[in-house]
Amino acid sequence: ESLLQMSEIKKQFSENLVLKGVDMNVLSGQIHALIGGNGAGKSTLMKIITGLYQADSGQLFMKGEPVQFNSPGEAHKKGVYLVPQEPLIFPNMTVEENISIGLKQTKKVLKQKMRELNSTLGWNLDLSRLASSLSIAEQQLVELLRGLMRDAELLILDEPTSTLTHHEISSLFKIVKQLAHSGKGIVYITHRFSEIFELAHHISVLRDGVISASGPVSHFSYEKLIQNLMPEGKTFGST
Ligand code: ADP
Ligand code: MG
Ligand code: MG
Repeated sequence: ESLLQMSEIKKQFSENLVLKGVDMNVLSGQIHALIGGNGAGKSTLMKIITGLYQADSGQLFMKGEPVQFNSPGEAHKKGVYLVPQEPLIFPNMTVEENISIGLKQTKKVLKQKMRELNSTLGWNLDLSRLASSLSIAEQQLVELLRGLMRDAELLILDEPTSTLTHHEISSLFKIVKQLAHSGKGIVYITHRFSEIFELAHHISVLRDGVISASGPVSHFSYEKLIQNLMPEGKTFGST
């Protein structure tokens, strides 16, 4: 079943035409890898589908119904949530307060849920710590916990693993697989092919402002992915 469908999404920043008409369809229960070179517009596309940016034109459909998100809050209400590439942590709040932002349950219920998640993941983040004392790597864990607490229908992870340890990555992958198994949709952005082959069901390649290739992960190999990401006119092995 189609969870979120993007149709002909276009976005320009002054002279820079980044998205030229993106079509992408994320299904329920699917881990959908989105790849593309630096500056291809992956984060821009994800900011558009979570209401942080507005598209110049194009249409979004959730389960077949046209939707429009004017803010991240509106997207969150409809179950679409982005864990952004750069952590957005409020330094003068505790870890617990940072994770609770925008969640409606009582403090007690949230704390219990956070503790369980933290222990399932084996991350051992001290919830009472002031966020100003967190390293960048710890901030990223807080950002991920915040996303995993959302019960989102569609959870978007934008290059989540660059600062994570091997152990943190493997517990994250376990949870992401469980979420997909329970019917949630996941968009997973990464530059690491090994992560794609370990995690994803489907791959879409964003290149020159459009989805230039899309298909089940079984249709792709390392070499094919590299070819799909090569600059125009180059082939694998050429200089
Ligand atoms: P990716 O995530 O694929 O690396 P981005 O979506 O971050 O790419 O960026 C795509 C292009 O859009 C880049 O050229 C970037 O500079 C530009 N861009 C992104 N956000 C803005 C913005 N708020 N204002 C101006 N240009 C932007
Ligand atoms: Mg990038
Ligand atoms: Mg990005």
